[in-house]
Amino acid sequence: MIRKFIRRLLGNGPNTGEAHAPLVFGPDEHGIDPDDVSSNAVRVTETLQRAGFKAFIVGGAVRDMVLGFKPKDFDVATNATPEQIKRLFRRAFIIGRRFQIVHVMFGQDLIEVTTFRGSSSDGAPKDEHGRVLRDNTFGEQHEDAERRDFTINAMYYDPEQQLVLDYHGGMKDIRSRSLRMIGDPEARYREDPVRLLRVVRFAAKLDFKIAPTTRAPISVMAPLINNVPVARVFDEMLKLLMSGHAMACLQQLRQEGLHHGLLPLLDVVLEQPMGEKFVTLALANTDERIRQGKPVSPGFLFASLLWHQVLEKWEAYRAAGEYPIPALHLAADDVLDSQTEKLALQRRIATDMRDIWAMQPRFERRAGKSPYKLLEHTRLRAGYDFLLLRCASGEVDGELGDWWTEFMQADGVDRESLLNRKPPEADAATPKRRRRRGGRGRSKSAEDAQ
Ligand code: ATP
Ligand code: MG
Repeated sequence: MIRKFIRRLLGNGPNTGEAHAPLVFGPDEHGIDPDDVSSNAVRVTETLQRAGFKAFIVGGAVRDMVLGFKPKDFDVATNATPEQIKRLFRRAFIIGRRFQIVHVMFGQDLIEVTTFRGSSSDGAPKDEHGRVLRDNTFGEQHEDAERRDFTINAMYYDPEQQLVLDYHGGMKDIRSRSLRMIGDPEARYREDPVRLLRVVRFAAKLDFKIAPTTRAPISVMAPLINNVPVARVFDEMLKLLMSGHAMACLQQLRQEGLHHGLLPLLDVVLEQPMGEKFVTLALANTDERIRQGKPVSPGFLFASLLWHQVLEKWEAYRAAGEYPIPALHLAADDVLDSQTEKLALQRRIATDMRDIWAMQPRFERRAGKSPYKLLEHTRLRAGYDFLLLRCASGEVDGELGDWWTEFMQADGVDRESLLNRKPPEADAATPKRRRRRGGRGRSKSAEDAQ
């Protein structure tokens, strides 16, 4: 049975601000499969509703379920205050100072619960470019919907009644595969320039078209990203790169003119001719792993994105007379320093990147105790995967990757015989004539490992 009923009191369309009632869609129309709904999210909405509050699954989870994907996480919105929410659950933690949210934990699973936010940011403190700095007001559900970014992200799902409440025409936009900002796009980008990155991520990830009015201000507004705290830009970049559609996202960023200057990483990644194949492979690899539900380490990802910059600097240091290994460390320092300023790479990620890079020359040593020592390295797997990428991109001979695959799989005796086996391409992979200090050439050479 079709249970669509329109309850617009003033009936002037979703963005007029007069009409607060949402369109309501029943199961036949929204098509959400109840099996896709997290049982913990249902526990949260049920508990809140039983205590007399409104509670809905909201945002990306609703969007993804309507599209037929299994959401990666579930957010809940309610009219209960953080304190009221906390009291209803055994493991609930109020976090955040600027806008308090509640983390409700079930084992490892986390449901993020937010109180409906008030609509107007007019009175909120802003920086000189109009970016909202703090805004803590609670509000009505329709106000909460208006504060969200895109129409498709402003739908609320009640698992109990299996109804979707759609305040801004999100369902229609989902059907026409259109990404539309709620309200005046320019003002919304100004309030929070991170939305410039979000629009690109969603367009690429969902394969949606950006509505013309939502798209028009993007390139003009692009420099505003510079005013956003680096840690937030980093978080958003990470989401973009881990979306399972990293390559499409980067292409779209470039298309929208969003990569220049604001994110030094992307200048490097998208415009280094040498590294293009490597980066393309690395991103395709990452996308594939994410789609298969396998873990991806941010350290590995950023190590790949910046590898060719490291190679370039490594070569420059060696050409200037530095020994290979110190040269590699100097190159890594330079690259990490130049990126951390704007990218706020966390220390843990930077450490992983350095480990992966530093391991590379060690793979070229195939004699004595060296390979055994490398087997004990805690990050061996990441270093080895990285080596395979270098092989696949043609930067190093594939034979080296094959040798390590065999060596890692072999047991004692076979390992010894592998150590004694002279690589067929040994001369190409380890050109002795380049053993001179300050010798030129790429990292193929065994000298780098000396
Ligand atoms: P996904 O989790 O798949 O990346 P999402 O839409 O759930 O996508 P989140 O960052 O988890 O994105 O945010 C949850 C919801 O909060 C969004 O759907 C949107 O309604 C709202 N939201 C998040 N960030 C913003 C923002 N910068 N401006 C306005 N609304 C936002
Ligand atoms: Mg989400």
